[in-house]
Amino acid sequence: MRATTAFNRIIAIHGVAVSGVTFAPEGVVVRIRRRKRSHQCPCGWTTKSHYDRSTRRWRHLDLGLTKCFLEAEICRIECPKCRRVRTEDVPWARPGARHTKDFCAVVAWLAQRVDKTTITKLLRVSWEAVAKIVIDVVGEVLNDDRFEGLARLGVDEVSYRKGHRYLTVVADHDREGRVVWAKAGKSAATLAAFFDELGPQRVAKLEAISLDMGIAFEKAVNEKGPHVRQCVDPFHLIWLANEAINQARRWAWNEERRVLAKRSPGRPKLDEARPHDHARWTKHTRWALLKDPASLSDGQLAVLHELRRNNSLLYRSWQLKEALRDLYRLADPAAAPAHLEWWLRWASRSRIPAFVKLAKTVRKNRERILAAIELNLSNSKLEGLNSKIRLINHRGYGHHSAEAVIAMIYLCCGGLTIELPTSTLA
Ligand SMILES: [Zn+2]
Repeated sequence: MRATTAFNRIIAIHGVAVSGVTFAPEGVVVRIRRRKRSHQCPCGWTTKSHYDRSTRRWRHLDLGLTKCFLEAEICRIECPKCRRVRTEDVPWARPGARHTKDFCAVVAWLAQRVDKTTITKLLRVSWEAVAKIVIDVVGEVLNDDRFEGLARLGVDEVSYRKGHRYLTVVADHDREGRVVWAKAGKSAATLAAFFDELGPQRVAKLEAISLDMGIAFEKAVNEKGPHVRQCVDPFHLIWLANEAINQARRWAWNEERRVLAKRSPGRPKLDEARPHDHARWTKHTRWALLKDPASLSDGQLAVLHELRRNNSLLYRSWQLKEALRDLYRLADPAAAPAHLEWWLRWASRSRIPAFVKLAKTVRKNRERILAAIELNLSNSKLEGLNSKIRLINHRGYGHHSAEAVIAMIYLCCGGLTIELPTSTLA
């Protein structure tokens, strides 16, 4: 068998013939040419003539231990449709790419599964190349089909990098929280851009949208989709309740200190005892108060019982938090409005500042909180999405541009299928 025939089988790109093979210091260089004589513009127009020609190389999948490059002549053509000189399309690589489609498919397939360092070591490519390849592959695979049939959406802001860089992410409640859209920023204008991209016909079919309690997203939905029923995501409310617990802990510490100082003037100075006591206090109460009661350790349960025996303000804070969580655990969802009303009365009279404040916020969002329960948008698929996006950052993909992070979010959370080049082989 001749070398070129053997390499034709190894390279296995349809419509391409191997014309020569050389061994260069950087690896095997396989010279290829297209069997078709005509050149195709990226717009689809074809011609037999060309403007000029040059030789280019693309990195292809490794051959054993050796890197492999495809080398071919590539032409520029004068396209009457685009009214300018453009570089022709080639079947083995995307426009402007330095890697073949097969190589890119392997990178994207791995990026869905492993961390970035693994890919750079395994395939001997740079971090930058991985980021660019993911952007290119996602750009090709992603299409408007994902906008079809949308009815119940969730919107959330995600921080993707230190220094307050945020993305707005839109996910589909009816398709396991699959990401349908993401963009840098977290303002009303950011979310408004999603509605514009969706178009009036698809917006008209939207039924419900779950949001945080901020005003930015609310404003965008009020303007762009006033018919869409707004809900508050349960995990935002529970997060606020946990924040209230943290505030109450700090407040209660100062409060008990003040009471102690009044009662016992003869005791040692409180300031002396403070560093030790404060640390102990913080350590002992934090998880006992924040964790789900069902998963508390014996020690944490003991802390809770101690707080209860002392009739501590913190014990009441904890009761208030758990009572708010009960809103999402009611056997009969129809009882939710009454439960919330009862909770609001209790919290606003609690005289614990953090919970009085929380009660005000809850009252303001009452309709939207109850709508989430009524429409059963309470299964927190979006919360799972948040942890998936954190995982993308942990795997080393979060340090690039917003564009690169968004491409990774589509790749890992958008339900995209990446086929390996070998998947079509027997
Ligand atoms: Zn063209």
